[in-house]
Amino acid sequence: MIPMTDIAAGHANLRPELEAAVAGVLATGQFIGGPEVQAFEQEVAAYLGVAHSISCASGTDALQLALMAVGVGPGDEVVTTPFTFFASIEAIVQVGARPVFVDIDPATFNLDIHQLEGALSERTRALLPVHIFGQPVPMDELMAFARRHDLRVVEDCAQAFGARWGGRFTGTFGDVGAFSFFPTKNLGGCGDGGMMTTGSAEIAERLRLLCNHGSPARNLHQQVGFNSRLDAIQAAILRIKLGHVDAGNRARRQVADWYNSGLRDTASIETPVTARGGDHVYHQYTILVPQEHREAIQRSLGDAGIASAVHYATPAYRQPALAGDYRSVSLPVAEQVTRRCLSLPMYPELEQRQVDAIVGVIRRCL
Ligand SMILES: *Cc1c(COP(=O)(O)O)cnc(C)c1O
Repeated sequence: MIPMTDIAAGHANLRPELEAAVAGVLATGQFIGGPEVQAFEQEVAAYLGVAHSISCASGTDALQLALMAVGVGPGDEVVTTPFTFFASIEAIVQVGARPVFVDIDPATFNLDIHQLEGALSERTRALLPVHIFGQPVPMDELMAFARRHDLRVVEDCAQAFGARWGGRFTGTFGDVGAFSFFPTKNLGGCGDGGMMTTGSAEIAERLRLLCNHGSPARNLHQQVGFNSRLDAIQAAILRIKLGHVDAGNRARRQVADWYNSGLRDTASIETPVTARGGDHVYHQYTILVPQEHREAIQRSLGDAGIASAVHYATPAYRQPALAGDYRSVSLPVAEQVTRRCLSLPMYPELEQRQVDAIVGVIRRCL
């Protein structure tokens, strides 16, 4: 059996270290905030090369609090991609703003920055690029566009911890970077968790207030906020896993290379393209297959004990939660890709012989 991802395999060698870290927190009795959380925030800031990092309860919260902290609210529009996990969109709707969708680049599956201009209106307040599957959006161009139009930028880095554009880490370009530590992400904890990064002391201050009841000091609530914090146990676990994230991302790239060389010469399959200037971290390895063969390929893989998944089966604007408002929207590339995309098993411990077996099953289907 080859699963999509294998968290237990990733933890096998770390088990004694992880158990000691958890035991350490249990011994202190400090479960919310405290030294482990502070140290993890500092270590992430140092790793990414960003001035401020503020932990929170999930990647979804990170996106929502980030939008609030940069001043997005009711009546505003936020331009984003329809080809993402629904949380990117939920965050926009939860702050009372309206998502406006642009089509995606067929090669990278990221929002097509050349279409941003056409999506602007008087109400556009921010851009929310998603570094989908770990492939960075061309952030220098996107930031130049945002500056020209006086727009805020919140980067959805949930799938892209450690990815770089032009040598610089994603999450350090926009006003805020939002990260998720959901267990399956490239840097994953043993539960939910999230992080917001920013170069602005002012935004950092707002984020710190927002995620802790708007409270700068005991018995003082400067604003109405939220309870969104990272547990000390998760922070202790994530500190250990941060030390292995580069090796994990390198191993993912190696797995992608094996897939690419096995599948490249098949006429009907398109393997992932990495944009020049970008440093992909392969949260997912997603190929395009002929629409009429996708089900059969998934069935053959399943029969061989190999998992596969469709990320994503529908553009966000076709989800029932939104569809009423977006009936007239149709973005052809996103719709094509949702019909043809297929994600294959991807995790650092995957071995070359397993990739060869997966490639073999797919080739026999064509
Ligand atoms: C996982 C994910 C999120 C949400 O993160 P959670 O920690 O699960 O709330 C947001 N955006 C994208 C693109 C994701 O993949």
